[in-house]
Amino acid sequence: MIVQLAESQIKTKFGTFKEYLYHDGQRESHAIVMGDVTEGEEILCRVHSLCIYGHYFNSIECDCREQMENSQKLIEQAGKGIVIWLNQEGKGNGHFALMKSAEFKRQGVPQPEAYEKAGFQRDARDFTVAAEILKELKVKSIKMLTDNPKKVDTLTQHGIEVVGTQPTSL
Ligand SMILES: [Zn+2]
Repeated sequence: MIVQLAESQIKTKFGTFKEYLYHDGQRESHAIVMGDVTEGEEILCRVHSLCIYGHYFNSIECDCREQMENSQKLIEQAGKGIVIWLNQEGKGNGHFALMKSAEFKRQGVPQPEAYEKAGFQRDARDFTVAAEILKELKVKSIKMLTDNPKKVDTLTQHGIEVVGTQPTSL
């Protein structure tokens, strides 16, 4: 169960968003929303996970920052949309796991297998909170901003109607 802790507004390079802060008993999650999405259909929605490398350290090894920026840009163009920000780095394994997997990655092992070799799960992400947030926001259906259509399954499994996807690569 999530609890809404606060609601505010944030001005960004891509327009003004309303921010909602939630807590699920373990960690905080955020939703930034542009426009009126209540009862909305085919609302653009990006479910984004924290990445210290991409968002803080300006890494060129991943495209997390670019995906976030493009999502905000696409939402601004559409005039409405949602970005759900989840604090689950390293596919939910945490930053320690990400660092531990780096050695295998350098040897050419793909990221999911690299996590496994380092003793973690290929993908430990949990999208329950994202689904709960969308229910809190009373969105009817979403169009997911993702380059990975597989992501749709994870949300539909949690009772969210996903009507399609749109890539974040512009
Ligand atoms: Zn990243």
